[in-house]
Amino acid sequence: MKKLYTYNFISRILFLLLVPTIFRALGFAFIWHSIFFGAITIVVIIWGTIILISPLLGRVGCGWICFMGTIQDLTSTVSLFKIKWNKPKRWIRVLNILIFFTTAFIFLFIRFDKGLVKGIEFAPWFLDMDFNAHYKHVWIYDTFGAVLLGLLLERRWACRNLCFMGALCAAGASYSRLIPVVDKSKCNNCGKCEADCLVRIPIKEYIANNQGLVTSSECLVCGKCVESCNKKALKIKFVWNRKNYIQESIDKITL
Ligand code: SF4
Ligand code: SF4
Ligand code: SF4
Repeated sequence: MKKLYTYNFISRILFLLLVPTIFRALGFAFIWHSIFFGAITIVVIIWGTIILISPLLGRVGCGWICFMGTIQDLTSTVSLFKIKWNKPKRWIRVLNILIFFTTAFIFLFIRFDKGLVKGIEFAPWFLDMDFNAHYKHVWIYDTFGAVLLGLLLERRWACRNLCFMGALCAAGASYSRLIPVVDKSKCNNCGKCEADCLVRIPIKEYIANNQGLVTSSECLVCGKCVESCNKKALKIKFVWNRKNYIQESIDKITL
């Protein structure tokens, strides 16, 4: 388990390097265009699956795959400003979800009206394979955008506030069964896990107020906190019933 973060890091770097060749399967612009064309494509299937599994495995898509997140992680290590952790701004997230899907569906319905699209089609490879000029530009904008966001803002600020996909994954991850758990009997409250967390989740608050269950929907299940803890007090594990876990922990203390 201690090596989890090593595997996580390898995964993120691998996807970062591969992204120019598999951009069609990962880039959100392709989701927009899939809706536009009325096609269920590979990118829709992949991100749809990631959203669907988030109530079980949390934000694995954000923490293990997404190149935009990885770029922010890399650049935020030399961040120019240190902005304090703050909770995601829900209204910005909702607004971005609405803008993304409303615009895409409006175009789809216009095309329906004109008889250009015959219903929704299952067509994984519908969108062009080649990394043509248009999508190359999108990739370059995405990359530079993520570099700037990482340099100028708090860790993963954009993931917490701007990204519609992150918002959808976070909604599922609120119920995630796979979460970091602190064994309070081993923890000395040093705060290293919190300082090193890729998202700067206030882990100490969860230790103090939630019996060590880090139930934040922003958690990327990356394992960095596990690696950071010298006391071996932190593990990422399946907790099937959060309420029961908390109650049992309280019972143990009061016994
Ligand atoms: S929140 Fe969005 S940009 Fe950030 S890692 Fe998740 S999918 Fe990628
Ligand atoms: S790093 Fe370990 S010992 Fe320190 S606060 Fe986190 S869980 Fe506790
Ligand atoms: S709490 Fe741990 S696993 Fe979750 S994002 Fe932070 S460092 Fe990664």
